Amino acid sequence: MKIICVGRNYKKHIFELKNSVPEEIVFFLKPETAIPQKNQPFFIPDFSNDIHHEIELVIRINKTGKHIQKQFSNTYYDQITLGVDFTARDLQQRLKEKREPWEKAKSFDNSAPIGRLISKDRFLDINNINFTLFKNKKKVQSGNTKDMIFKIDEIISYVSEFITLKKGDLIFTGTPDGVGKVEKEDILEGYIENEKILDFKVK
Ligand code: MG
Repeated sequence: MKIICVGRNYKKHIFELKNSVPEEIVFFLKPETAIPQKNQPFFIPDFSNDIHHEIELVIRINKTGKHIQKQFSNTYYDQITLGVDFTARDLQQRLKEKREPWEKAKSFDNSAPIGRLISKDRFLDINNINFTLFKNKKKVQSGNTKDMIFKIDEIISYVSEFITLKKGDLIFTGTPDGVGKVEKEDILEGYIENEKILDFKVK
């Protein structure tokens, strides 16, 4: 399986990092090794002093698809969850300045913890879902999928023009504003609406 992550998909987050609004979808990949073992804490890696949390709505692809038309995108996933796109912000900044790829800052081991999968059919409108991240019981990020610049159906269609999607692939759909540093002993909890979906400790 592979993990596809959309970047710069919420305006307020784009502005907090002083990036520009993209004309086309920005995406990058994380390998399977970015998913931690179940119930494992997130260990801060040695190569960064500024690991940021980015809470994101995640969808799980349920069948193979290539050149998927937007009107059929909704048949290519039936489960959603939350994930944290952990980012070594200091390293990413250095890579951006050198115009090098982001992988070292984004795709390292355990950089994509995900929560419990739930059926998308539980939601009347996938483009109007609230999700939040709490750090040590304090709300640090909250988003609503209606604020995505590129909606889920567009993302699936666009990505499948370049990369064949397969059952089990995950798509991280971008983070809202409020990204910030994690420290050892932090407890992160993610909610979709009022339901806890994600819960782990930083070590
Ligand atoms: Mg992200």
